[in-house]
Amino acid sequence: MGKTQHPGPVKISKKPDPSLWVSKVPFGVGKIKPHHFTDTAKIAWKNRDNLGYATSIITKGVCDGCALGVSGLYDQTLKGPHVCTTRLNVLRLNTMPAVKADILHADIDELRQYSSAELRELGRIPYPLIRRPGERKFSRLSWDDAMDMIAAKMKKLDPKQYAFFLTARGITNESYYVAGKVARFLGTNHIDNASRICHSPSKTALKRSIGVGASTSNYLDWIGTDVLLFWGSVASNSSPVSTKYMLAAKKKGTKIIVVNPYREPAMDNYWVPSNMESAMFGTKIADDFYQVNIGGDIAFMHGIMKHWFEMEQEKEGSAINHSFVQDHVNNYDELKQTVMDQSWEDIIDSSGVPKERIIELSTLLANSKNAVYAWALGLTMHSFATDNISQVANLALLRGHLGREYAGLMPFRGHSSVQGSGEMGADPFVLPGSDFNDANIERMEKLWNFEIPKWQGDIVGVTLENAVLPEDHERKIKMYYLSGGNFLETMPDPDFVEQALSELDIRVHQDIILNTSTLVDAKEAVIVLPAKTRYEQEGGGTSTSTERMVYFSPEIEGNKNQVEEARAEWKIYIDLAKRVKPETAHLVDFKDGQSIREEIAKANTNYDGVQHLKKQGDVFQWGGAWLCEDGICPTPDGKGNLISVDIPDLGKKDGQFVVTSRRGKQFNSMVYKEKDPFNNAGRYDVLMNAEDGRRLSIAEGEGIVVYNGFGVFQGRAKFVDIAKGNLEVHFPEGNFLLPRGRYEKYAGIPDYNITVTVEKAERFNARKDTQYLEKRIDDLETEAN
Ligand code: SF4
Repeated sequence: MGKTQHPGPVKISKKPDPSLWVSKVPFGVGKIKPHHFTDTAKIAWKNRDNLGYATSIITKGVCDGCALGVSGLYDQTLKGPHVCTTRLNVLRLNTMPAVKADILHADIDELRQYSSAELRELGRIPYPLIRRPGERKFSRLSWDDAMDMIAAKMKKLDPKQYAFFLTARGITNESYYVAGKVARFLGTNHIDNASRICHSPSKTALKRSIGVGASTSNYLDWIGTDVLLFWGSVASNSSPVSTKYMLAAKKKGTKIIVVNPYREPAMDNYWVPSNMESAMFGTKIADDFYQVNIGGDIAFMHGIMKHWFEMEQEKEGSAINHSFVQDHVNNYDELKQTVMDQSWEDIIDSSGVPKERIIELSTLLANSKNAVYAWALGLTMHSFATDNISQVANLALLRGHLGREYAGLMPFRGHSSVQGSGEMGADPFVLPGSDFNDANIERMEKLWNFEIPKWQGDIVGVTLENAVLPEDHERKIKMYYLSGGNFLETMPDPDFVEQALSELDIRVHQDIILNTSTLVDAKEAVIVLPAKTRYEQEGGGTSTSTERMVYFSPEIEGNKNQVEEARAEWKIYIDLAKRVKPETAHLVDFKDGQSIREEIAKANTNYDGVQHLKKQGDVFQWGGAWLCEDGICPTPDGKGNLISVDIPDLGKKDGQFVVTSRRGKQFNSMVYKEKDPFNNAGRYDVLMNAEDGRRLSIAEGEGIVVYNGFGVFQGRAKFVDIAKGNLEVHFPEGNFLLPRGRYEKYAGIPDYNITVTVEKAERFNARKDTQYLEKRIDDLETEAN
């Protein structure tokens, strides 16, 4: 797609710059901050029974932590070692022994006493297991019996009545590809993956704005751009080594701007452990924070654009890159009209940011030749997320910040394999190479040599809702095949999720570890299958990073805690196909990882090159250094599209708050510490503005209740620097406040933000004692947005 190739890693300047230091006191003594070196020592101790193998994974494997991407200890951005505590924390999943038999076969209620973090610590799933209704314990099963049972059930069901889901945990492109192909071969399009829950609006928005749903730029573009803008992203927490790139960027004069309701301490100051200067004195990361209301981003961006159009009235060319717009952009007049029709009052009211501050950022961007716009879940997890991200694309298109060095759009992805999951076709809306549309169906049918079902598959949330449909409904989901994932702790309305999971006839959990969802009952059987990790997969495997680098991770020998019965995930899918449709299963058979990669290169032509990745360190970037290079977008007319939208109404009433969730010391839903080392917040702390607290006579640390028509969250007030009227609670603990069934209108992911009321716990509980609460909560049912 792009003609310029990534140049490979560069050196970071070693020249000290005290103007970037957090403090002259070494190692941040006296500050609230993580202790990377102590944490690393603790992790090494945890892995002491398998240290050689742990070291091999770190030095030879592709990180199965976040989507930043690193092979062994080296990445494509900066020379020098690359490792972080997130990677080290997930390492134990790959090195630990199996769960002890007495615990694995304990009474189910005993197992249910464990949290997911504790279940993870128990060890790996050693062999196939089954638990039928009325059985108190899991019992051992042979692979043959397990797979025969699953296949027999699938044969009985209409393919519209079973669904597949794949999580993001270390799963390789090869496994996603085979899962997507086998699902269609079996006759179902109900296949979804975890990455869609986080970032599918990024894809839908970028596709309609610039014709391609991936990051247009590289991390290298951060280093030396004028402005690096993080929108609703705590990159320093989700991808810790990104701080090293930020440090390099700052040393080259890049301004880092963060737009987020909460002034996240990890985006403010950071101690980069692999850089001696930063490890000693810290680095001031953000040059400025814009504390926008939750859900106020569209208004904020409209404010930026409105000021640009006002600047243009004063002096043409002072804000808009007219030559870029003229040559490469559609819908300019329409967008201008929409934005100019909006009043500053509405913009300020919705965004929560004063006009002079909006103008400040608007002017900075107008005067910046280059900018990289990165965003994450703060923009994607709303019911209007696609519109949110379209507005970021509008900014880049109006300024010509696209398709060249130091300029572009970057959805900042979470888990190491998420970029590839959709691109491999494990997604209801896509087949490898393109969308799930007639032309692509026809193309893939020719390649696969079997008929693909033509009906639209359902998104994960809908399949769960469909598990409770009447027995004879055509789309009642009766069987769920899960590769990892813990719906109980990731989806809204956990009580409903539990009901849906237990309504299924058969639930299959193909996984490395047990989690709380694995322990829920099913009507006929819960079957658990032990999966191999990515490092055990025969012939190795690939994963795709945020910046579209496809890394090869080799099979790594030497696991002293080998789980003998574990199987490579793609092999399990093929085994399943052979049992359900033995006559034609040769159509989905692969002899090894290499033959899968060869087919991937044909199925998704962006991946032409993946077939040449064979050994440790092999990597290629699909699409070249920049997508939309020279402003030419892969849209039908080659132009980017400006998208006009209205400012959304959150339905927030006077006195109410909007709540969103954040992560503490955790990786996705895996919690590693009860206290966030950056702000000392506990898992049940409710982050709120002190002025809001005072207004409600709430003291810091006091018990409070956050509630709406869907749930009640009991926590403690923690006063932090967050925009007034906004709250943050931790994910997934706060999921009880979210109803099911509120989806993003284009991408279909759940909305994780909602309006709530806050009260002192003692008041709330006093009223509850007088039975007043139930009525009040019913009344609030209508208030969800
Ligand atoms: S920043 Fe991400 S890719 Fe890099 S080591 Fe940490 S978890 Fe792995």
